[in-house]
Amino acid sequence: MSKQEKRTEIADLGEFGLIDHIKKQFDNKNSTTLKGIGDDAAVIGTDGDKQILLSTDMLLEGIHFDLTYMPLKHLGYKAVVVNLSDIAAMNAIPQQITVSLALSNRFSLEAVDELYQGINLACKKYNVDLIGGDTTSSRGGLAISITAIGQAKKEDIVYRNTAKEHDILCVTGDLGAAFVGLQILEREKEVFLTAPTAQPELGDHQYAIGRQLKPECRTDVIEELAKAGVIPTAMIDISDGLASEIMHICTQSNLGAIIFEEHLPIVDNVQNAAVTKMNFSPLTCILNGGEDYELLFTISQADYKKIEKHPDINFIGYMKDVSFGRKLQMKSEQIVDITAQGWQHF
Ligand code: ADP
Ligand code: MG
Repeated sequence: MSKQEKRTEIADLGEFGLIDHIKKQFDNKNSTTLKGIGDDAAVIGTDGDKQILLSTDMLLEGIHFDLTYMPLKHLGYKAVVVNLSDIAAMNAIPQQITVSLALSNRFSLEAVDELYQGINLACKKYNVDLIGGDTTSSRGGLAISITAIGQAKKEDIVYRNTAKEHDILCVTGDLGAAFVGLQILEREKEVFLTAPTAQPELGDHQYAIGRQLKPECRTDVIEELAKAGVIPTAMIDISDGLASEIMHICTQSNLGAIIFEEHLPIVDNVQNAAVTKMNFSPLTCILNGGEDYELLFTISQADYKKIEKHPDINFIGYMKDVSFGRKLQMKSEQIVDITAQGWQHF
């Protein structure tokens, strides 16, 4: 929690006072936002014949985030970004969000303001409008649920189940850093709990920690693909780790796949930290780490030339017949099965 000097109880404003206070901090930017906060329901318009996309995620304190190292402002930002990432993964641009909160009396108005500062930063960066939500009290801890809404033409929407054999598997950005960042933060928390005056050793790990605390989603790549005239054949965002997302595309498209270790993107500094500080194989961080919020997509071979020089798109393998299975070719040329664990919340 932050070291704000002033502490205003939410009970002093009441629920309506709080909603009004939040509303004042937000401006609507999209012409499709016809009615935002303030009535029984928000109203959204559509541009032409577009279809509406909608995605919801719920984050619970102690399960999905830990406020000992996650500042509320970062939490607000991240909670928005992970939802926008789901809309981007359908090849659409998000335009609106709703935010629902359950707050215990441990949270002051100043704490809620920090959370909404992060939410507002993400809304500005990604040009989305906050159009509603719900506010309720909780017996313990913080819960935050965000719904993101976007729209796209029917023929532009990309699903997980439409990849084709021989399509090229592409991944944006780099992988594994958010997981390494989380391990570093967890380790520093242990040190802090046993020796509260110890100085954290975060210096070399700014990038990995930043990827964990303040992830971005790839609406930029969605726009660039559109400009290049490329509609992916299938797409998913990488929230649970590359292995699990490849499994989803393969299972839903009824295909197999091969990926090549030498083409998997990881930042040198992150790779070194994984090996030297944590004894993790970089491959484990890439395949099973998660929270990268990059995009995994497939394109037809005919589209390769259109994006081959894109600096942020990596070509990591291709789709095979289902009988091939899901395989990774190591740098040693050994071929192994890809296993996906996903996140274990339960
Ligand atoms: P109702 O009782 O009809 O559900 P509320 O009093 O909960 O209405 O909400 C009033 C308005 O404020 C609605 O537009 C709602 O979407 C919005 N709202 C409520 N809580 C939040 C919040 N935490 N963030 C943003 N908007 C909110
Ligand atoms: Mg309500």
